[in-house]
Amino acid sequence: MQRHFASDNYAGITPEAWAALQDANRDHAPAYGNDAWTQRAADMIREVFETPCEVFFVFNGTAANSLALAHSTQSYHSVLCHEVAHVEKDECGAPEFFGNGSKLLLLPGELGKLTPSGIDDAIRRRTDIHYPKPRAVTVTQSTEVGTLYTPAELRAIGSMAKQHGLRFHMDGARFANAIAALGVAPREITWQAGVDVLCFGGTKNGIHVGEAVVFFNRELAREFDYRAKQGGQLCSKMRFVSAPWVGMLKDGVWIKYAAHANAMARLMHELVAAIPGVAILFPPQANAVFVNLPQPVIQKMWAKGWLFYNFIGEGGCRLMCSWDTTEEDVRGFAVDLAAAFAS
Ligand SMILES: *Cc1c(COP(=O)(O)O)cnc(C)c1O
Repeated sequence: MQRHFASDNYAGITPEAWAALQDANRDHAPAYGNDAWTQRAADMIREVFETPCEVFFVFNGTAANSLALAHSTQSYHSVLCHEVAHVEKDECGAPEFFGNGSKLLLLPGELGKLTPSGIDDAIRRRTDIHYPKPRAVTVTQSTEVGTLYTPAELRAIGSMAKQHGLRFHMDGARFANAIAALGVAPREITWQAGVDVLCFGGTKNGIHVGEAVVFFNRELAREFDYRAKQGGQLCSKMRFVSAPWVGMLKDGVWIKYAAHANAMARLMHELVAAIPGVAILFPPQANAVFVNLPQPVIQKMWAKGWLFYNFIGEGGCRLMCSWDTTEEDVRGFAVDLAAAFAS
């Protein structure tokens, strides 16, 4: 068996998620989310966030982000996002498609992060009728370049959003890694920072399929069930999307796995940073390490069978650790990398 560093979605399903799936595969149960598993999973998410939020399960992150943003805007609105945001770079235009034309406005920012002043500037730049009116802002936590917003940074963005009447959306495909790394309560970086809606990732944390769209702004959640259905995102055998969440949320399993992935990234960083010629591109604060490698070295590593991407975020090679990455995997990669430089 070989594990790779291409993405956390190369990994399989955690034993806990798998066991819950198997448990759900007994007898019959009501369809379309009217089953006990879906109820339980939504209740557990409310317990995690310590607030009565509205929860919807969809198949993937592109749908979660696009539908949540479409639900936060009218077609003549715009959404402020970082220039390397997944919604811009990796969703094939789905946010604009589901938003019926609502436009993403791209903002720069160090370390893959938006800043309150950047948001303020973007809004004040144009306020006339000819410009797509900013109505939402989206951040990614942890970010596309493996960094983290601090709770204070998120609160500052949240208050800027409020000041300008923007809805605050969070792409949390790797929310678990952020929670594990920051060691804060989930509420502190979501609704207490002003987040209206979170796309809470399950897949990259070890579920087979499915993300939760969590509305802290419950008024905004109105009729989202219809939008999800129209978007082809209402699963008829919903219990097979929701049950794994019960397995993962029980006893903090989701945080345990995310913490492990983060620890493997820290080890990867330590080992590869020590190899002469390797440049680390971003501080590795979650489960990814971004490095600059010479083209021949990349080719040698690929030829040895190590898979990793070199086009994510702002470029460079991304080494992504997952719930099942082992210390031997990381050490094996680092040994081969050192050899690739030496040969
Ligand atoms: C993986 C990922 C998503 C979700 O992608 P899908 O392939 O549509 O599930 C969303 N945002 C970020 C930052 C991601 O890395």
